[in-house]
Amino acid sequence: MHFIRQIIAEDVKNGLPPAAVRTRFPPEPNGCLHIGHAKAFCLDFGMAIENGGLCNLRFDDTNPDKEDTRFVDSIREDVRWMGFDWGDREFYASDYFERLYGFAEELIQNGKAYVCTLSPEEFKEYRGVPGQPGKPSPHRDRPPAESLDLFRRMRAGEFEEGRYVLRAKIDMSSPNLHMRDPAIYRIKKESHHRTGSKWCIYPMYDFAHCLSDAIEGITHSLCTLEFEVHRPLYDWFIENTSISKTLKIRPRQYEFARLNLSYTMMSKRKLQQLVAEKIVEGWDDPRMPTLSGMRRRGYTPAAIREFCEKIGVTKFNSLTDLALLEHCVRQDLNKISLRRMAVFDPLEVEISNWNEGETDWLDAVNNPEDESAGSRKIPFSKRIYIERGDFMENPPKKFFRLSPGSEVRLRYAYFMRCDEVVKDASGNVVRLICSVDRASRGGNSPDGRRVKATIHWVDAAGAKKAKARLFENLFTRADMSDLPEGADFEDFLNPRSLEERDILIEPALAEAKAGDHIQFERNAYFTPDSKLSAPGSPVFNRTVALKDSYGK
Ligand code: ATP
Ligand code: MG
Repeated sequence: MHFIRQIIAEDVKNGLPPAAVRTRFPPEPNGCLHIGHAKAFCLDFGMAIENGGLCNLRFDDTNPDKEDTRFVDSIREDVRWMGFDWGDREFYASDYFERLYGFAEELIQNGKAYVCTLSPEEFKEYRGVPGQPGKPSPHRDRPPAESLDLFRRMRAGEFEEGRYVLRAKIDMSSPNLHMRDPAIYRIKKESHHRTGSKWCIYPMYDFAHCLSDAIEGITHSLCTLEFEVHRPLYDWFIENTSISKTLKIRPRQYEFARLNLSYTMMSKRKLQQLVAEKIVEGWDDPRMPTLSGMRRRGYTPAAIREFCEKIGVTKFNSLTDLALLEHCVRQDLNKISLRRMAVFDPLEVEISNWNEGETDWLDAVNNPEDESAGSRKIPFSKRIYIERGDFMENPPKKFFRLSPGSEVRLRYAYFMRCDEVVKDASGNVVRLICSVDRASRGGNSPDGRRVKATIHWVDAAGAKKAKARLFENLFTRADMSDLPEGADFEDFLNPRSLEERDILIEPALAEAKAGDHIQFERNAYFTPDSKLSAPGSPVFNRTVALKDSYGK
């Protein structure tokens, strides 16, 4: 039971009706959501659902610079894809601009805020350093009437950006620098994705967030650890505005450690840079840690939710092993994936004891983990392809796959023996001549004799061509949240993070569509790319390898 669960359970024990638990997920629509956000909103929605309470989706759109409705749309899509429903409670901080403005005027009138003319440099200099009190702004004691007049004229657009800011009047000697008269409104002559040019002053996060929580009746405002030092401000703005009188339950902020994942960069600003510099194909590039990228790559919501539950919620920053996420993905895909055969590096095999034009349609199980997935028919005829790597002309002792004179099982088909190796002029193996034991149809031993290996294959006449995209980590360094002094994330880009391959697939795979999860037997899990696939000609993204390295 993690500490957030404990806090809520304690509140419930002290009389909070569980159904009154109200949380919110507050993304800023300035980029797409990533796996770190998923940790946050699985917790926000999770705590509400567990208690029979509600979770709001609130867009924290107080900074028009990089915000855009296309990010609003993608955030909605991603949260919904993850299986969460915010009903009709989709809110925007910008919906509250008028009310927030009213609270600011209130603070001014009560002598708790003032308009200040210090430049950003002076602001910093006056604020000072921890351990030493700051210096009060010369405007700190500006009469409320004068501040109010200036603030109204700020709103009216009379001043250029940076000329004035509205500051809360708190404590210039607080050991917490955030409490040293923080800015609460600044002038920004920027059009906003929802309010257009209606406003030219915008509230700061610290002011807008807590009051938005209060307006919505949030009880537990869950955020990451870096907001811990902002918490006194969170409480101050609520306590010092009239909203506190209307509240049945005071919202409280609780902080938990953000998710850092090995070989993964989680900063939205830097992800934005990857996109802008075209280092990746877009926010939804399958190598990105974004939910849209993971969806395209074939990760499932169930796997991501399971991962978020497994990592738990703590107060300590740490680095989570990417292998754990892949483990969760693999576990889910093992249950739901259709098994199919595809050959990546084909070696032709001619079956000497098979007739030209004869086709056997064999039964192949779609998913041994799920009987309801049924089976399909796959063709077998005179020529097939196997993986070049499954044959060795001069095998070492422990090599049990195909070699001259040896016998293997062709998956779902026959026992097959290699009788002859055909080479080109330079000595490369170009073809094998093999024979099958017709009595082993279905891959069953006819007489109790055993083969040590089963290999996959595709029928040469029935196979279709396709493309596969193999991904590696985008970065070569494990801890991308803590780069060495002077280093840039681009120093750690993996040049081999994407490899494209031409492959041969069994006929049934040509109809695979985005959203399908497929295990290429003995290879890896794949899914058709949602952007690059065309009807009848899928491009497969490798989701995750078959081999689990978690805890190894
Ligand atoms: P920005 O630098 O743009 O503020 P951000 O990643 O904090 O980036 P927000 O849209 O503000 O983006 O985040 C929404 C919520 O997701 C916040 O409550 C934030 O604490 C949480 N969050 C962001 N990154 C992580 C992470 N890596 N792990 C857990 N929660 C996160
Ligand atoms: Mg943020």
